[in-house]
Amino acid sequence: MRVKCVLCDKIEKIEDQSPLAKKLRNRPIHTYMCQPCHSRIKVRTEERKISGNFVTYRDSSQEETW
Ligand SMILES: [Zn+2]
Repeated sequence: MRVKCVLCDKIEKIEDQSPLAKKLRNRPIHTYMCQPCHSRIKVRTEERKISGNFVTYRDSSQEETW
């Protein structure tokens, strides 16, 4: 089946038998995200998490240095 990514409007083909295709067929409002967008968002979320921790860590270590 053909699916359209909600983020970049890219049309992709996914396996009719895949669990994702079944999910999309059962719930037409369920949004599809292509793999690059999906991983980009995942990476961004992870980065934010990591940089958040890093900033907190660096800030506290700077306080110690000062
Ligand atoms: Zn996309």
